[in-house]
Amino acid sequence: MTLFKFLFRKSDLECPRCLGKTFVDWDDIRRLNKILKWVPAPCAYCFGSGRVTPEMISKVPVDYTYLTIDLPEPEMDKIKEGNPETLERGRLREIFLDDLIKYAENHYLYDKMNAESIADLYLSTEDEAALFSLERENLIRFIEKVIEMKRPEVN
Ligand SMILES: [Zn+2]
Repeated sequence: MTLFKFLFRKSDLECPRCLGKTFVDWDDIRRLNKILKWVPAPCAYCFGSGRVTPEMISKVPVDYTYLTIDLPEPEMDKIKEGNPETLERGRLREIFLDDLIKYAENHYLYDKMNAESIADLYLSTEDEAALFSLERENLIRFIEKVIEMKRPEVN
């Protein structure tokens, strides 16, 4: 299905990700438990149309993390088609993020490390063949967000 058809096809269901608003805001992000993984943006699940086909809902979980508006269009199309390789890549990316969150939480809570030292430790042990990685600066920013979420538990 082409993007044009996807956008203009008369589909009968409200988008379960953005609830038809065409935009994913912090309420949606909290509802779908993606606080560390998404930021507010136009909805990639319905491609900003607010409506989705029943096929889409049966193929792609609404909280499928990898499907965001910043992905290249061909990659989005593959997700929507249910391409197994692409879905697997998305699954691995989610595992990568979950592991990184756990790693940062543990070093913050038990070793009292700050974001910068956690990032440096992570990069020093990172496998060169790792499927996913983050630039040091982005990594630090990400870890700062993880720490921010954990702070209330410490105080
Ligand atoms: Zn939507």
